[in-house]
Amino acid sequence: MSKIKYIQGLLEAKQLSCTELTKRYLDGIEKEKALNAYVKITGEDALKTAKIVDEKIARKEKLMMLEGIPMSLKDNISTKGIETSCCSKILEGYVPIYDATVWSILKNQNAVLLGKTNMDEFAMGSSCETSCFGGALNPHSKIHVAGGSSGGAASSVSGNIAVYGLGSDTGGSIRQPASFCGLVGLKPTYGTVSRYGLIAYASSLDQIGPVASSVEDAAIIYDAISFYDSKDATSQGSKAKTADKLNDSIKGMKIGIAKEYFEGIREDIKKSMEEAIVVYEDLGAEIVYFNLPQIKYSLPVYYIIACAEASSNLGRYDGIRYGHRTSVYSDINDMICKTRSEGFGKEVQRRIMLGTYVLSAGYYDAYYKKAQKLRGSIVKAFNRAFESCDVILAPTVPTTAFELNFTLKDPIETYLTDICTVPVNIAGLPAISVPCGFDEKGLPIGMQLIGNSFDDAKILNAAYQYEQQMKDKIYKQSEMGVIL
Ligand code: GLN
Repeated sequence: MSKIKYIQGLLEAKQLSCTELTKRYLDGIEKEKALNAYVKITGEDALKTAKIVDEKIARKEKLMMLEGIPMSLKDNISTKGIETSCCSKILEGYVPIYDATVWSILKNQNAVLLGKTNMDEFAMGSSCETSCFGGALNPHSKIHVAGGSSGGAASSVSGNIAVYGLGSDTGGSIRQPASFCGLVGLKPTYGTVSRYGLIAYASSLDQIGPVASSVEDAAIIYDAISFYDSKDATSQGSKAKTADKLNDSIKGMKIGIAKEYFEGIREDIKKSMEEAIVVYEDLGAEIVYFNLPQIKYSLPVYYIIACAEASSNLGRYDGIRYGHRTSVYSDINDMICKTRSEGFGKEVQRRIMLGTYVLSAGYYDAYYKKAQKLRGSIVKAFNRAFESCDVILAPTVPTTAFELNFTLKDPIETYLTDICTVPVNIAGLPAISVPCGFDEKGLPIGMQLIGNSFDDAKILNAAYQYEQQMKDKIYKQSEMGVIL
């Protein structure tokens, strides 16, 4: 089931050279250009790394876990010498002078970077369509979006033009596109994966994690990137490795169901969750039911805190230090104003304005302070819930993939679809989205498993056990991209 292990097996047995493998992936990217999964292709560097790996194989040296595996990085993860634009006009031409910690870890493993993937501008969105390059398409149906904001990451893995991708999740941006594209997406516990070099959207919520085609791959990648990093003040590293615990029995594991997660969810998606609950019962898990009424505050809390932090984080794009600068201006204030008006898209501007508003004197107490208090009560509610269960099962998204342009027409309607994913970011918890079936249009449905802080291994274990039972029913072989 692990694509990473399978490919490494081929490389080590010399059935396929890393150079040949990389060429196939680069050809696949060219063929699937219409998916718009990549905004930058790094073919030359990829082939250079592949050559190093081939030389190692020729010397019969053992490969590291992710060595030689072709992969993609979301365009908000800094890559030294490679343009990183967050899919925003304001960062056009920005080439970082340092690597994000996650990328330096993978680079040291000779991971083969194929390119940078498409995303909503500054990771603000749910469809990838706020990208200045236009959205990424869903390989399962090209009239639907891949999701967002890590839409390009999901499109690249689902379209079989990357073995895995790294994305970022502030309010669902790994889990939602994974759910839309029939993939596994892991949002790790806040602090377990370094955010150093991740271009900030909302720092207290942002977390990097893998988008992969199986639970085992997600665990392997998580284990490779979850380390303490002194360059990130909120870094803690993981408490335990996860890949060696996937096979643990889940007999007696308590799976919690909170009815609030099922309100406003499409009927067929609810039904898929109910079927998953039966699978867990058959595996010997115990189902416990409770209420989490605080869930309903998650959306306003999220949008207040995320916008407030964004308005501060994005203050640095002023035409002086980074990327775009307007060409005609009368003085410095005029220059900053014109640069920001031209460089930021509509959605980013909306959030900067909302964030500035909720932080401004006179409104701070009514919005930002209140949201912070409610954040505390959401954290407490989860703490209480985990006194009676090990993991919480919920839908990842109330719907399947949106049709193209849906989110651009109605931002509020789109914000509402984040209801199932934002609570864990608010509480800093780990959560995984696993495929659990298809709707009548053949679009994938995702199930979410949420864990207590630092219980990343537990949710991966529970996800893996479900996947093993259901793999024939939840994965559809992609006919696109690279056929190995
Ligand atoms: N859809 C959410 C938003 O627009 C989540 C984004 C994210 O996780 N980066 O804010």
